[in-house]
Amino acid sequence: KRLRLDLGPRAYDILIGQDVLGLAGAEIAQLGHKRCFVITDETVARYHLDALTASLNHNGIKVEALVLPAGERTKSLTQLEKLTNNLLEKKVDRHSLLIALGGGVIGDLTGFAAAVLLRGIDFVQVPTTLLAQVDSSVGGKTGVNSPHGKNLIGAFHQPRLVLADTEALSTLPRRELLAGYAEVVKYGLIDDPAFFHWLETHGHAVIDGDPVARLKAVHTSCAAKARIVAADERESGQRALLNLGHTFGHALEAETGYGDRLLHGEAVAIGMMMAFDFSVRLGLCPAEDAERLRRHTASLGLPTDPSQVPGQFFAPAALIEHMTRDKKVRDGRMTFILARGIGKAFITSEVNASDLQDFMTMTLAA
Ligand code: NAD
Ligand code: ZN
Repeated sequence: KRLRLDLGPRAYDILIGQDVLGLAGAEIAQLGHKRCFVITDETVARYHLDALTASLNHNGIKVEALVLPAGERTKSLTQLEKLTNNLLEKKVDRHSLLIALGGGVIGDLTGFAAAVLLRGIDFVQVPTTLLAQVDSSVGGKTGVNSPHGKNLIGAFHQPRLVLADTEALSTLPRRELLAGYAEVVKYGLIDDPAFFHWLETHGHAVIDGDPVARLKAVHTSCAAKARIVAADERESGQRALLNLGHTFGHALEAETGYGDRLLHGEAVAIGMMMAFDFSVRLGLCPAEDAERLRRHTASLGLPTDPSQVPGQFFAPAALIEHMTRDKKVRDGRMTFILARGIGKAFITSEVNASDLQDFMTMTLAA
């Protein structure tokens, strides 16, 4: 299936399906670059680099691969420096193309490298995690983490093409699949109650690898993301809806130190639940909708509560401190994405500090 993200001169296609990796060479050849560099991590290289390289070679494209360590810590200034030095040593020029083969970590880092190398060169996203296929590969947000917080150093830089091979997900560990699935649920919660309803019946099939269900989940998610980004590329308004669950989630991630104990998608799953519970507590959302979300998330084995993070105690004050430091703070007012129900998310800066304090104390005491 082919979607198009309409951004005028920066418009690009999103290809989704089985064996999209096999089509990569033909698709990338059409972009007409002289040299291609594939950026990937060790784990993804082991499973999928040969297929991509073969497809590129088959279309007369020579490639050099740069293989980085796997994991969130690779999204750092240190790795950015190594990567750009490496590419400059190899005489990367303005007609070169970077190809990000991997999850959101590789996609965000490669996209940022492409944004700053020679003031901007082209790149293509070949997402291999569910999270990257439904979220991070589309929309042009790139960057690295800082000790001060996640994604604080970055740029908007749109890819020239996104190639999402749903078959590549077959090698992804179940825990990573589930984490990515949290972002799929997010689209239902934002503005598509029918999709959420579909997920309630077909979510297990998506996780268990049913190809038709997977294709529908990835396609519906990408279409939603493309629609929201096309309407607000630079996040001056509605794009912020995509941060549903992320203000809480980023705070949890920061506290756990971006390690294996809490994956981004797991933090988002808990964060979305907190956004719904907070909405209920503020009298904005029916309790039944929050319960539906809790049932669905829990039935798949995703965490719904901060207490489910092993070996971690979260202090309310520490989390609130992270939330106020998050970049979504304007004039001392925190922007929250709350919900009036499933499929009815909205942006507000009307949350007062004492309500937040009470909610956090209650949630974390439980
Ligand atoms: P990731 O890139 O670290 O991938 C998760 C793990 O899965 C890694 O160990 C990786 O090696 C492995 N892996 C990847 N593909 C595989 C495959 N097909 N088979 C087996 N193993 C595979 O993490 P992620 O969850 O993809 O992305 C998380 C990152 O994305 C976070 O840094 C988050 O901030 C970012 N993100 C960015 C955006 C955006 O708009 N740019 C949106 C959402 C999330
Ligand atoms: Zn996310």
